[in-house]
Amino acid sequence: MPVMRLTPTYLEHGRMTDQERFNRSCVPISTGCWLWAMKLDRNGYGSFSFINDGQRERQQAHRMAWQLYLGPIPAHLAVLHKCDNPRCVNPEHLFLGTNEDNRADCVAKDRQAKGSRMGAAKLTENMVSEILASELPRHILADAYHVSKTAIALIKRRETWKHVCPHDLKRKEP
Ligand SMILES: [Zn+2]
Repeated sequence: MPVMRLTPTYLEHGRMTDQERFNRSCVPISTGCWLWAMKLDRNGYGSFSFINDGQRERQQAHRMAWQLYLGPIPAHLAVLHKCDNPRCVNPEHLFLGTNEDNRADCVAKDRQAKGSRMGAAKLTENMVSEILASELPRHILADAYHVSKTAIALIKRRETWKHVCPHDLKRKEP
């Protein structure tokens, strides 16, 4: 799939379009994930509000991402994450499946995650720069980078990765 880029567009009266608001609500990080930086629902998914026919509606942000970038979601299909990060809204990290696929996928990933947390974290210097520069809570950073909260705390306290500076960051545009 090609890298998707957004061309900001504004309505004539100067209000942002849903697409523009959406893209301003996420932060791309070097894992490739676009982290939703706004409201989350109680399941940890991003929540996006918009006006439809004069009514305010809410939609899960990753489902909105699918529709904004890839098109309609077929009825009875769920939008699932390849990256195991419910907060991610990068359309390239999403795929369609049934709710049964979702459950099977969660079980498989849970097993995987329990395995990988035992091993060494796969952070890069660029990721560590992002973590140092980020004001997001530690548990969110831990989920986003698939490392433990302790690993994040050690980085923040400058006890590990001491040679990396927050401003070494090479930020990518969404
Ligand atoms: Zn992702």
